[in-house]
Amino acid sequence: MAKIIDGKAISKQIKDELKEKASELKANGISVTLAVIQVGNNPASTVYVNNKKKGCEYIGIGSLSYELPEETEEEELLNLINELNGRKDVNGILVQLPLPAHIDEDKVIKAIDPKKDVDGFHPQSVGALCIGQPGFVSCTPAGIIQLLKRSGIELAGKECVVLGRSNIVGKPMSLLMLRENATVTIAHSKTADLKEVTKRADILIVAIGRPKMVTRDYVKEGAVVIDVGINRNEDGKLCGDVDFDDVAPVSSAITPVPGGVGPMTIAMLLNNCLESVNLQ
Ligand code: NDP
Repeated sequence: MAKIIDGKAISKQIKDELKEKASELKANGISVTLAVIQVGNNPASTVYVNNKKKGCEYIGIGSLSYELPEETEEEELLNLINELNGRKDVNGILVQLPLPAHIDEDKVIKAIDPKKDVDGFHPQSVGALCIGQPGFVSCTPAGIIQLLKRSGIELAGKECVVLGRSNIVGKPMSLLMLRENATVTIAHSKTADLKEVTKRADILIVAIGRPKMVTRDYVKEGAVVIDVGINRNEDGKLCGDVDFDDVAPVSSAITPVPGGVGPMTIAMLLNNCLESVNLQ
């Protein structure tokens, strides 16, 4: 039976380390503040935003909250970002996605000062990751690297398959794996013979948003399986992109949903907030 990778425990460990780091910064007269902007009241976004604010409180950094109505004009949001870019007492700026349809997400992401881009979505942050320069790294993929390292799973020389190629998970994930000297394959909806490709993986990362699609026929015996998916099944319960009960017996280690990758995203956001001090 696979080892279950406990994202809750590992994220707690990271948050406790960050708490110490934040108090050292404070002792040196440096305070850190994250500005969180939410437009509209999408219930899932409200949960995420509240968890991020609670995370800031836990490690002892400040958070400023901007809750804007659904009908906020794009220009108004851009003006707010511009104001926060210029404030010396704000270290990180996070705009909770998705935004209402009338606002251009790309424009908003690009408006954030790359030195305050704690989500790591700005093209400059992505470019820096691509060529190995300092910059913010997208939180979910960075969290997965921590999950693997802190579980004693070696990446160098391993065959890694990343299933999914989104800008926020799949692509940065594959770049981070490459940085760790893994041999990386990216698969997606147009990949021919998907099972043949995923079965090559020593480490399989799944980020497709398809409830329980990945069964044991996609997995090599003894592989490590990381499930990024957050979906609701027919009964409204949370489930991943991997069929956990089917895959766990053939894998050597696996993340559950919930309690795997999810908690790591916030831990890495908080890490980026403290890192911002070095970049600014
Ligand atoms: P996107 O919808 O942006 O991307 C999905 C990717 O999966 C695309 O590249 C798509 O391929 C590929 N894909 C979709 N269906 C298939 C299929 N049948 N076979 C092969 N590939 C397929 O999703 P995200 O990357 O944003 O999110 C993925 C999942 O991770 C979601 O469940 C999301 O909720 C979750 N998530 C979890 C986070 C966490 O903190 N744990 C954070 C972010 C996301 P193509 O490009 O060809 O269309």
